[in-house]
Amino acid sequence: MDLTPPPIEDGFTAEKLFNQGYSYTYDDVIFLPHYIDFPTDAVQLGTRVSRNVPLSIPCVASPMDTVSETTMAVAMAALGGIAFVHSNTTASEQAAMIRAAKSRRVPILSNPVFKPPSARIDSVDDFCGSPYILVTESGSAKSKLLGYVSRLEWEKQNNKEVKIYDYMVNSSVSAPSSFDLGQIDAFLGEKKANFVPLVKDDEVVELVTKEDVERIKGYPKLAAGSVGADGEWLVGASIGTREQDKERLEHLVKAGVNVVVLDSSQGNSIYQIEMIKYVKKTYPELDLIGGNVVTMYQAENLIQAGVDGLRVGMGSGSICTTQEVCAVGRGQATAVYKVSSIAYKSGVPVIADGGISNSGHIVKALSLGASTVMMGSFLAGSLEAPGSYEYQSGQRVKKYRGMGSLEAMTKGSDARYLGDTAKLKIAQGVVGAVKDKGSVLKFIPYTMQAVKQGFQDLGASSLQSAHDLLRNKVLRLEVRTGAAQVEGGVHGLVSFEKKYF
Ligand code: 5GP
Repeated sequence: MDLTPPPIEDGFTAEKLFNQGYSYTYDDVIFLPHYIDFPTDAVQLGTRVSRNVPLSIPCVASPMDTVSETTMAVAMAALGGIAFVHSNTTASEQAAMIRAAKSRRVPILSNPVFKPPSARIDSVDDFCGSPYILVTESGSAKSKLLGYVSRLEWEKQNNKEVKIYDYMVNSSVSAPSSFDLGQIDAFLGEKKANFVPLVKDDEVVELVTKEDVERIKGYPKLAAGSVGADGEWLVGASIGTREQDKERLEHLVKAGVNVVVLDSSQGNSIYQIEMIKYVKKTYPELDLIGGNVVTMYQAENLIQAGVDGLRVGMGSGSICTTQEVCAVGRGQATAVYKVSSIAYKSGVPVIADGGISNSGHIVKALSLGASTVMMGSFLAGSLEAPGSYEYQSGQRVKKYRGMGSLEAMTKGSDARYLGDTAKLKIAQGVVGAVKDKGSVLKFIPYTMQAVKQGFQDLGASSLQSAHDLLRNKVLRLEVRTGAAQVEGGVHGLVSFEKKYF
């Protein structure tokens, strides 16, 4: 890679652009194209979310209760990224979500339904949307598998009063939960079965159908999944900085959490610094991410305290009202550049958190020095986000809420906004909804392909090379005027449909 600045002076270096007293966000700035000497597919997006946690793609799901629970954690790990399971719940529930994600090797979460043979199936609702009810000796997941009832067969059944043992199909066929998609596919073919229960430690943890396997096979080929030294998916989690979070962390560590983020909107506090010191002393092997920060001073304090990663952003989130309520924060492009320019000197990776609404924002965040992007709204409309779809004005949507919204804070997330000890709670976020986007297993690979094209235009064949080109003043930027931003979007048409893939 040639790190010599172009011989003809054109555009601004990042150093010059971001030192003029303006707070810029992604849409304010534009990179100038550089020189291409490799194909798009040669671009490598491998990175690290923290010092010792590598990922194949730079995508991270935010620790929010409408974004990251078990299903998202499994899907993000299968994609080569990672999700941070939120802490707006009890420590044991959070640990259970981590355990559930780590016990799977396929991005499928079916929540199997169990009944004992002596029970009856009263209505189709008993199937809870699943095509099968599994019959186990005691009717729980951790009990001997005896057989199953299929919904189709049950619907044909005339007498709904009979007990399950009179018509169930006897079968104890199962496969280990360590099977990957290829192994499950082969197993179903070999047994000529339409589904298979997956078992771990004598407990049925999953039920995978042929349809599930076919659906996933139809998605673009995934990058290498994020697997830890234990052979299980990498899963992150958030905690707060209060005394009881030490106990929460103990639960999470026992559940096998791979990396932890301290969830705070203003991370440069005595509470966080003390927590960092405690965690690094108690669990020296565990990677710890601090934040949120937006200034070099904040970043330096947390680096000195011992963090392995930094989460950057204050007021840039789509559901966030911090800048409006508190008059504090920073434009996200400036924040990412400034924090990255100090963090890289200590080898601390930066997560650009919030404000990502398209692939161009990801290219900008990564080229300005971030190692990963953390997303909320970009993922909240997916199949894998918690909650079910509903309709609003004819559109299929999913609920998405800020962790600083009054609604979320009543469940406990107020600690992030220092509202837990305050007498009067003030919201720093809103409750809203986002459009149905389908599965992350489909739209993230397409998004990554778009990011690779952006990197190719910049002449950067990897994240490291983009960072080197930026710091060596090879990459140049400019600020876009309001008119330039209009020009940069679709304009002047009577109507259009925007489809990315
Ligand atoms: P998004 O990807 O939707 O633009 O932003 C997600 C990020 O917004 C989260 O990762 C988190 O840092 C931040 N965030 C989440 N909830 C709230 C909130 O209620 N208020 C504020 N100020 N920030 C929030």
